[in-house]
Amino acid sequence: MDVPLPLRGVDVQGLLIHTNHAFHRGKVRAMSLDQQIKRYQKAFQEDRLSKPVRCRSCGREGTLHWHAVYRRSLITFNDPVVIPVRRVLCSVCRKTFTILPEFVLKFHRYAKAVVDLALQKRNSLSYDAVADFLMDRCHRCVAVFTLHLWRRRFQTS
Ligand SMILES: [Zn+2]
Repeated sequence: MDVPLPLRGVDVQGLLIHTNHAFHRGKVRAMSLDQQIKRYQKAFQEDRLSKPVRCRSCGREGTLHWHAVYRRSLITFNDPVVIPVRRVLCSVCRKTFTILPEFVLKFHRYAKAVVDLALQKRNSLSYDAVADFLMDRCHRCVAVFTLHLWRRRFQTS
């Protein structure tokens, strides 16, 4: 099963995230969410997405093969986008895995950068004020209940 990545630090505006996703492995750099999405889509189109070396179920190396693609929508700071997500199949244990880009949180419709920013705002604002902020910033009505869930799930400090 996929293990959601821990949230990483964001800059003061919450717009830049340090990322080292596999499709530009080794280059740790700050990119806006839009840039990350564009880069990912381009890598997908050009068949440059990289897959893990080791199967996370059986632990063998070199047994993962591209298997299927599905599309999922992602809520961003601008319009929602639909991104392709690839799956891999292990030829030995026959398990399949989803390879999510780093800006996506598993089981969450909001981009990681949006959740990051909301949690950062929550440090100084009430839940209601954060919901208002997201309405202004993303034109999305986020339930206070959802903000509570994000905080419980992702707040590390
Ligand atoms: Zn395997």
